[in-house]
Amino acid sequence: MYTTKAYAAASEVSGLACTTVPRRDPVEQDVQIEILFCGVCHSDVHTVRNEWKHAMPTVYPAVPGHEIVGRVTKIGSGVKNFKVGDIAAVGCLVDSDHTCPKCQAGLENLCPNMVMTYNSPDKHGTAPVTYGGYSNSIVVNERFVLQVPKNLDLAGTAPLLCAGITTYSPLSRANVKGKKVGIVGLGGLGHMGVKFAHAFGAQTVVFTTSQGKVADAKRLGADEVILSKDADEMNKHAGTFDFILDTVSADHDINTYLNLLAADGTLTLVGAPEKPLSISAFALLFARRNLAGSLIGGIKETQEMLDFCGKHNIVSDVEVIPVEKINEAYERLLKADVKYRFCIDMSSLKGA
Ligand SMILES: [Zn+2]
Ligand SMILES: [Zn+2]
Repeated sequence: MYTTKAYAAASEVSGLACTTVPRRDPVEQDVQIEILFCGVCHSDVHTVRNEWKHAMPTVYPAVPGHEIVGRVTKIGSGVKNFKVGDIAAVGCLVDSDHTCPKCQAGLENLCPNMVMTYNSPDKHGTAPVTYGGYSNSIVVNERFVLQVPKNLDLAGTAPLLCAGITTYSPLSRANVKGKKVGIVGLGGLGHMGVKFAHAFGAQTVVFTTSQGKVADAKRLGADEVILSKDADEMNKHAGTFDFILDTVSADHDINTYLNLLAADGTLTLVGAPEKPLSISAFALLFARRNLAGSLIGGIKETQEMLDFCGKHNIVSDVEVIPVEKINEAYERLLKADVKYRFCIDMSSLKGA
């Protein structure tokens, strides 16, 4: 075991502060990574504040962070795909059972025994739970470590590991090329959804509540932007969308969007509103519409997403911050005051 500096929450009201946490020494299939950048996801805030206490109570100290990009500093004797000095990435998962039908199919994100990057029981016994990327280093089994295309900006790459795969996976599975696709919400997830839908060749329409985001949505790749508060404008598009990706995690009326779907169209949720949504059965029955959900992606698909980003030169729009600004960044994130993802420059933790 060794110790590494990290930013951790001591309790649900403490905020984050500098501390040290234990990491295991790399064993056979492990890759040790010096973390260069870590994106800031809304899930980090929920975990730090124990807001998912009923489903996934937070164990303190809690070290969040699952959008990790870094440099390989050490490898176990059995590692095949990485060497010291390589740039590598880690997302929301660091292990699974490797044996269930979902793992066999490359869908570790659906494994009942998946180990998340933070706040999951630590199988290696190094600590009570796994510690995430707000840290100077991490050790991960190479099966859960991704290759980063050489042309991509590393700070902008970090958010691809959660916000990127979360939006890529449902759009990719929906085969949206040439189809009319709606993206609801233009935040950390939504802005990636727009980039992917555009790159897949979809007719990309963004729904936003904010007039101030219209120009930005177009810059990101939207063919059209609809102000969702404008009922007339919304009605004009009734029954015309093949696919809608809903990225909103605040309470909102999804029936309005279901009614925009064409026959057999699908609305997929990737945001997680706190309270149950109210759904009109009529909106689904007529036109035989589908309502679905999606959670990140498997490791194979995550690599495919990164390779796609390399080919199309796609990264997240980030505001890079030093780690000591993280508590302030959480406050701003909750006010949607970021374009479009905070990313921590982890070199700022070295001297902290
Ligand atoms: Zn996330
Ligand atoms: Zn499994």
